[in-house]
Amino acid sequence: MEEKEKCEGLTRRNFIKTLGLAGIASTGLSMGKAGAAPEQADAGKPVLPRRKLGKTGVEVSVLALGGMFDTINNQLLLRQARTWGMNFWDTAEGYGNGLSEDGYGRFVARNVDARKDLFLATKLHAGEPAAMTAGLDKSLKRLATGYVDLFYTHGISDFKEIAAPKPVKQWASEMKKAGKIRFFGFSSHTNMEDCLLSASKEDWIDIVMFTYNFRLMNTAKMKDAIAACVGKGIGLVAMKTQGGGQVKTDSEAELQMAGQFLKRGFTDKQAKIKAVLENPNIASVCSQMPSLTILSANVAAALDRTSLSRNDFELLERFAAETQESYCAGCGRICHEAVGGAAPVSDIMRCLMYYHDYGERDLAREVYAGLPEHVRAGLTQVDFSLAEKACPQKLAISRLMREASEILA
Ligand code: SF4
Repeated sequence: MEEKEKCEGLTRRNFIKTLGLAGIASTGLSMGKAGAAPEQADAGKPVLPRRKLGKTGVEVSVLALGGMFDTINNQLLLRQARTWGMNFWDTAEGYGNGLSEDGYGRFVARNVDARKDLFLATKLHAGEPAAMTAGLDKSLKRLATGYVDLFYTHGISDFKEIAAPKPVKQWASEMKKAGKIRFFGFSSHTNMEDCLLSASKEDWIDIVMFTYNFRLMNTAKMKDAIAACVGKGIGLVAMKTQGGGQVKTDSEAELQMAGQFLKRGFTDKQAKIKAVLENPNIASVCSQMPSLTILSANVAAALDRTSLSRNDFELLERFAAETQESYCAGCGRICHEAVGGAAPVSDIMRCLMYYHDYGERDLAREVYAGLPEHVRAGLTQVDFSLAEKACPQKLAISRLMREASEILA
């Protein structure tokens, strides 16, 4: 997982009404601090709806807790997520250098009964079987569990990364037999549609988590890819549902959109989550919720029964069109081929998104540092003119790559 979904609130009145948290208002408890005991929140009994995760048949909460944050020191948040019915928890080997898995593991170890209700997912990059097994064993140890419900190979941009000759299929089957994983899938934020289509032609992919939001949901290619997966019973999880840009997007257009949605009783950030959940084929939205404020606002968005109107969708579409040049759509094959493979442009764009939109500068630098040294060293020497011509979003790739090499190095 991989995204910080900043969804900071319904209007205060609707926020409280939706969650039934009158106690929080009257006691003046800050949602950002420890204090609102789950028992108090239980009085309003807000429980997230669940959807079936494809052919797995498992019912998961429509919001999945993305764990790319300090889960060790946010145990109260984990407890609250569970109290609100969030049974789908997502993490990865690399999040916080393994500290994210440690935090989930601490919760599981201290709440033994909780494990059977949780649908726990983790990720590793695809590699040789022995290395993947060793990595998975370490994850299981950190998570204080003998198995994960879902194992994803992390961030593929081409199905070939896990297809033959890499024996990932066989590895997945062996891990299932060994009882270490229940289901297998992959995550993708680059060339998602192609990856989904490839998955739909296989019989061993249970679940795909992919970048999906109001900017991407209307193309024929995305619709076809989703339909193909649904036809094969592949469970679908959306991530990066806020559609955050590579350059800061607090534009006049965003302010106007936010104002329009507030009149409807929810924020633009909540509208973006609701837009994704309007698609019944998406079982869950995986979203980083590193504070009780964001957790609460996202839960409120999922609980709110107001359906988005045609006008609401048009508002989102207009905003997407007006801010197109701020958003990398993840179609990395286009720019990658245009630069002859000299730079993984879409990966670097993602680093810029972490930096600008999430404000996660350390994370942005960490992901950037993971790129090969020669790529980083030669980034400003690459001619991006053909990539700029080919880019459907009309991004200023050359300028953005220069900026990346300055601020992320
Ligand atoms: S930079 Fe442009 S072509 Fe490359 S992935 Fe992003 S939107 Fe697609």
